[in-house]
Amino acid sequence: MCPTKAISLKEDVKGFIRPFVDDSKCIDCNKCIKFCHEYNKRNTNYIHNAYLASSKSKEILEHSSSGGVFSELARVFLDNGGYVCGASLIEPSVGTVKHIVIDNVDDIYKLRKSKYVESSLVDILPACLELVKAGKVLMFVGTPCQCAAIRNFLCDDEKLFVVDFICHGTGSPKVLKWYLSQEKTHIGKIHTLDFRYKNNESGSYFYISGDKGSKLIKNYSEGYPYAFATALIVADDCLNCKYATVERVSDITLADKCDGTGLDFDKSTILANSKRGVQLLESLVIELKQVSIASILENAWHLTSPNEPNLNRDKFFKSYTTLDYTKIYKTYLVMKPMTIWRRAALKLKAIVKQLI
Ligand SMILES: Cc1cc2nc3c(=O)[nH]c(=O)nc-3n(C[C@H](O)[C@H](O)[C@H](O)COP(=O)(O)OP(=O)(O)OC[C@H]3O[C@@H](n4cnc5c(N)ncnc54)[C@H](O)[C@@H]3O)c2cc1C
Ligand code: SF4
Ligand code: SF4
Repeated sequence: MCPTKAISLKEDVKGFIRPFVDDSKCIDCNKCIKFCHEYNKRNTNYIHNAYLASSKSKEILEHSSSGGVFSELARVFLDNGGYVCGASLIEPSVGTVKHIVIDNVDDIYKLRKSKYVESSLVDILPACLELVKAGKVLMFVGTPCQCAAIRNFLCDDEKLFVVDFICHGTGSPKVLKWYLSQEKTHIGKIHTLDFRYKNNESGSYFYISGDKGSKLIKNYSEGYPYAFATALIVADDCLNCKYATVERVSDITLADKCDGTGLDFDKSTILANSKRGVQLLESLVIELKQVSIASILENAWHLTSPNEPNLNRDKFFKSYTTLDYTKIYKTYLVMKPMTIWRRAALKLKAIVKQLI
């Protein structure tokens, strides 16, 4: 896109992939501004309907983060000669996650499940452009900002169908790689990395296993999942996210069950944000129940507000690679028992919030 090849995608200090411009090559043509979602508003859809949904297939439910609706959507596109682009865990031992394109239902497993780390789009956007230029239908799944990027890059081609999710933010690939390298000393070379392990008990589980042992973390109470859940390691952009709004960038938004009627890790909340989104969802052979949009707005944390900054974030990023792992773990990566004062402060905050 840049006529002088002045833009390159590189890792920033926190480990996120960001575009960098070489000023000595830039000719100020502004072509990049035209294609950049930061400068061009793409969240132009609105929530039409909200649903609770789940796949009827036990196998899909078992291997999905929540209700498996992603897999059901993917199947429709692939069965009809289309393509699906989504995030795949390429190398569990170091936590490498990249977007890839699939054209076969047998490959849906490669994209299933949430990976709570930034997925790289390097090289995949031009591949997506080639597909739609060749007249192929493409379903793209990603964070809302990635969906905005692809809509901008493909100039809203009608062959592009966009699926995002309610987004807490993405974790730093550099921190995940560091964490896995530390855990490797206890559990050996890691071959399984599961951010949403399902073990038939209620709760959120993170699971890693290697050739010497394994580790299961319940309710993200420590380690990498704790750092992710407490926004210690999410990208700077996530703390000021402009996609945490009812104006959606996608045709369909996926999420965990968040209608306020209790947890169920085999059900998803689904928002249909365009006419074709409603049509597609209602044509799927799945469990689908319409619910009030208000119930989702009340209970879905990050649908309308970005993550709150973690006050330890800067200190953590400055020190995690230089200090002793045990010390870092104790200081930043484990849930602390709440003091009586903190508990009282949180109660007071909740009361004040209700009053205003
Ligand atoms: C980084 C992240 C943050 C999330 N935050 C929230 C939240 O705050 N609240 C909430 O209700 N739900 C959130 N979700 C969505 C939730 O975790 C499930 O993805 C959702 O319930 C759909 O589940 P499923 O069973 O239909 O799909 P699954 O089979 O789990 O498919 C997940 C889809 O997401 C894509 N994906 C996975 N990881 C990434 C990634 N790192 N980057 C881009 N795309 C990815 C995959 O390509 C796949 O298409 C988040 C997901 C991710 C990846
Ligand atoms: S302004 Fe033009 S030359 Fe400069 S980085 Fe952007 S596209 Fe490249
Ligand atoms: S929180 Fe916002 S900026 Fe961060 S990954 Fe999600 S959509 Fe992008």
